[in-house]
Amino acid sequence: MSGVHRDRVKKRKSPCLWIQIAAAALFNGYAAGFAKGGVFQGAGKYVCVPVLNCYSCPGALGSCPIGALQTVIGGSRHQISFYVLGSIMLFGILLGRLICGFLCPFGLVQDLLHRIPVRKWRVPARLDMPLRWLKYLVLAVLVILLPMLAANELGTAPPFFCKYLCPAGTLEGGIPQLLLNERLRPLAGLLFDWKLLVLAVILISSIKIGRPFCRYLCPLGALYGLFNRFSLVRMHLDHGKCVSCHACERTCPMQVETTKNINSPECIRCGRCKAVCPTGAITTVVAMRDTPEEAPATADMK
Ligand code: SF4
Ligand code: SF4
Repeated sequence: MSGVHRDRVKKRKSPCLWIQIAAAALFNGYAAGFAKGGVFQGAGKYVCVPVLNCYSCPGALGSCPIGALQTVIGGSRHQISFYVLGSIMLFGILLGRLICGFLCPFGLVQDLLHRIPVRKWRVPARLDMPLRWLKYLVLAVLVILLPMLAANELGTAPPFFCKYLCPAGTLEGGIPQLLLNERLRPLAGLLFDWKLLVLAVILISSIKIGRPFCRYLCPLGALYGLFNRFSLVRMHLDHGKCVSCHACERTCPMQVETTKNINSPECIRCGRCKAVCPTGAITTVVAMRDTPEEAPATADMK
């Protein structure tokens, strides 16, 4: 890469990290909760935030959409919450997985761990591709099917994803609540040990692999990914400017084949590819549909 190109790379920095920190603080802004434990019970809890953010986090001001979806499906009337699904669809249509890249607190945790300067591991495609389907299985089985089918004696079903898998819930809700409430500690048994193990595997693998939970397990990422091709905010690659250096693909935390499929369901719109592209071929655009490569007739957010 020429000196000019290196300079351009240096100049273009992504504001991603500061937005992620601000969003995590905003969604978990009930500071008193961190001092005394418990769960915020204000009116905000009737509203779903757009990200995976544990309801039981002492600072959480809103509800988690995946938790809310399971609770309604697993309720005695097995309804689908049109409010929750509608808000996920609205955010998906507007932003796609930009929400994962810029707003999700658990995404921030994985990104911070990935900054630890050790040699990174690029997951081989033959492993990476099939593993990506796991998050759709988690969505279908743990979030929808099991809460629908496994009613207990009260006619309700547990929120299977939150109860048995969600590492964000363990980190944001389970651990702080146990630290802050002595009387809860005897209740933490084998299930909590399992959740700690899941969390540890995700956190440790985040050091070597970009966003392992978002890539392979997150049901909300799976849902938002369905909208990536249609969302109003999207990535745009001008093939006329591309010199096929593949710097974008080497830097992508989600191992997206940027030059072939930049609006893949895996793209979290983090903008890292844009920041390293030496020719400025990649832009973030606001568009109703795919635009001609040479002249994106849209509001350019570059
Ligand atoms: S393709 Fe670009 S914007 Fe999408 S996840 Fe990869 S680096 Fe981020
Ligand atoms: S889009 Fe940019 S970074 Fe990616 S291969 Fe083309 S020139 Fe290189």
